[in-house]
Amino acid sequence: MVPDQHSNTYLEPSSSLPLTCTRAGTCCHGKMVWINPWELTRLAEASGEGVAAFAERCCEFGGIRLRFDGPPGWKGLPACRLYAAERGCSVHAARPLSCRLYPLGRERQVKTVRYLHQGIRFPCLEGCADVRDLPALTVQDYLVGQDVTPGEAAQDAYLEVMQELAEAALILLIDGGLAGQGDHQVLPRWRGLGAAHPRGLVQAIAPDWLSALTLPGFACDSADPARFAAVHFAQLQERAQRLFASLREADALREASCTMMALALHLGRALGSSPDQLVHRWIITAKKHGARE
Ligand code: SF4
Ligand code: SF4
Repeated sequence: MVPDQHSNTYLEPSSSLPLTCTRAGTCCHGKMVWINPWELTRLAEASGEGVAAFAERCCEFGGIRLRFDGPPGWKGLPACRLYAAERGCSVHAARPLSCRLYPLGRERQVKTVRYLHQGIRFPCLEGCADVRDLPALTVQDYLVGQDVTPGEAAQDAYLEVMQELAEAALILLIDGGLAGQGDHQVLPRWRGLGAAHPRGLVQAIAPDWLSALTLPGFACDSADPARFAAVHFAQLQERAQRLFASLREADALREASCTMMALALHLGRALGSSPDQLVHRWIITAKKHGARE
């Protein structure tokens, strides 16, 4: 285990930690759980609800974060809407990746994946000190036991969808001719989208686009989440082509570029990324291709 300067502790697959859960439900209180569209669909199916109804009842920001407004538990913090005090997680088999990983986190840079926990002290010790009396597990065995593979595949596939949406925003700005005409409105608007509160970013996206991003409208493929994400992306791509491919007028191109960027940033947030950092990177790329602020 290697603590870094940001106080994350990076772990080896063989690192042995007190990873047998006490099942006290401590970490189902007062947390932020972000979910991608595959996870949202899977949770809705497990709850026996339509995806839109589930998103409305159990999620915030159009379906990308679970609501934590249940009865107070550990430290008086509110429970996840899906937590049942008498039996724990009501959607255990369909729980999102971040719940499966906790107390661990996962960091992916290009092809490299690292597992970590926040801080130097093992996170469970704060609320579940008894965890020390239960069997230690290696990180590798813990991940297998939590069946993280489908959730990780969905996460990685949606990171690619996010990148494609940002590419579309760039294409509308650069290849659409705006940058060549000296436009200096689009990049500040992108920056504003990156800095916006999650609610503000949702409001910047037209409702039909928000639905297209979060409610793909087909069944969750538990066996092949990457295929689910690919079919979902094909739907988004077809929609963007139909609405934006023939645009020539500058204002319309600006709106289209900002729509695609807002979608990329909203999805990035659902994947646990910081929209502020993402947009900074994409603005640098746009400037390399001649765009200006
Ligand atoms: S804090 Fe750790 S030990 Fe306690 S319920 Fe959560 S995962 Fe289990
Ligand atoms: S989805 Fe389940 S495991 Fe995750 S925070 Fe909610 S109740 Fe806990």
